[in-house]
Amino acid sequence: MTDIQHIPSLDPDNWDNFRARAHQMLESAIDQMAHAGEGRVWTEPPDDLKTLPPIPVQGDAAQTDTQMKALLPYGVGNTHPRFFGWVHGSGTPSNIIADMVAGAMNANLGGRDHGAIYIEKQVVSWCKAMFGFPETASGLVVSGTSIATLIALKSARDRMNNFATRASGVQPGLVGYTSTQTHSCVARTFDMLGLGSDALRKIPVNDAFEMDTVALQAAIDADRAAGLTPFAIIGTAGAVNVGAIDDLDTLADIAATENLWFHVDGAFGATAILSDKIKPRLTGLTRADSIAFDFHKWLHVNYDAGFILIRDEDAHRRAFSERPDYLAAADRGLAAGNPWPTEYGPELSRGFRALKIWAQLSEHGTDKLGQLITQNCNQAQYLADKVNADPAFELCAPVALNICCFRFTAPDVDLSRLNAEIVIQLQLDGVAAPSTTVLNGNTVIRVNITNHRTAYSDLDILLKATHSIGTKLVLERSFATT
Ligand SMILES: *Cc1c(COP(=O)(O)O)cnc(C)c1O
Repeated sequence: MTDIQHIPSLDPDNWDNFRARAHQMLESAIDQMAHAGEGRVWTEPPDDLKTLPPIPVQGDAAQTDTQMKALLPYGVGNTHPRFFGWVHGSGTPSNIIADMVAGAMNANLGGRDHGAIYIEKQVVSWCKAMFGFPETASGLVVSGTSIATLIALKSARDRMNNFATRASGVQPGLVGYTSTQTHSCVARTFDMLGLGSDALRKIPVNDAFEMDTVALQAAIDADRAAGLTPFAIIGTAGAVNVGAIDDLDTLADIAATENLWFHVDGAFGATAILSDKIKPRLTGLTRADSIAFDFHKWLHVNYDAGFILIRDEDAHRRAFSERPDYLAAADRGLAAGNPWPTEYGPELSRGFRALKIWAQLSEHGTDKLGQLITQNCNQAQYLADKVNADPAFELCAPVALNICCFRFTAPDVDLSRLNAEIVIQLQLDGVAAPSTTVLNGNTVIRVNITNHRTAYSDLDILLKATHSIGTKLVLERSFATT
């Protein structure tokens, strides 16, 4: 029988042409990474990139490739050695190779018995080893710490009433505890879980921006006295503002005494367990019930790649597992390989993120990755020392890890507005890309170094440019208060 009306498939008519296209794009991609350290950090996207053309009705391969190539220079800048904003990983060229293999396999890691699943199992097992979790723990590769947090706290919430919540809805009165420095994804998780963000108590911090554990205990006592049901403590290893690490051991003690789930947001900080210098400060991680962290930040896997590690495999699976008839398990054949990853998170279809994580660890090893983390911490301290040595600058928080917060100072100036403007001008000039945050009511320049390409000289360039922009703005009497 012949097709009545033949429609060409999506495969190329001519594989030689396809090979040529792919090779060309691969060359462009490698060039992009090879020159990541040169030129401007960030460039505002041109207007033609911001236009919204109609959806293509007839496709055009050549034009598609041209447009993708033109896109390459307009990244966020995080591959550049002087990108210091927020907490961004800088990526590695090798990821291009892993992404090619993942693209060729087009694997769905929701479940079933196939090669990719075993790569993710290796990653899960490596993560348990990294944090000293038992073999019986469970884990899942996810898009990032935000989703990892959701998975952990849903498991914690549902375990509270033996998973009845899954059918009957949220039990009232559940409350959890974290610090005022905690990332916003934790409050958003409380919101998404139907607990409400008010049920997340924000405990004040000490001078080092770490959770005040005396205030924590008092808050738990007060909530119990009021008839509420505490269920979780959320500590942070590497808080966004200044990189503070909560006193994880004391938090673990309180969680154990109070019978609470101890979750740690370790988005970037937890991975500092690979650094000989930082590891002794992270011993409490081994006692956590769950750790959420990212591979796309300090371990430089390309976006996106996060992970959730959970001590109580049973709670993790029972919070998510759902096996209707069409997803039934089998002992043999494609439906084997149980339990499936979909039983540990909200997604059914899942891409092969695990491969780029696996390849990163396999190619570079934990020693080198750990040394790079140590180097970034030393660089943050170097920057703080230079800031302290220059009267035009003021250090705004102690360096806890890899983040240095400082500001340019001058008399009779609105320093918050001045420093916010300095950061914008640094970004617009393309010379460096720090971001800002607010500490003790003041807007400050925040330099986060999660970047394996950063050299000490890049920090000298940053300070010099900051100094000259600050001086110029003050001379122009911008933001003067008198
Ligand atoms: C980045 C970050 C998050 C959010 O992680 P995503 O991977 O962006 O979802 C949470 N907590 C901390 C401390 C972070 O730095």
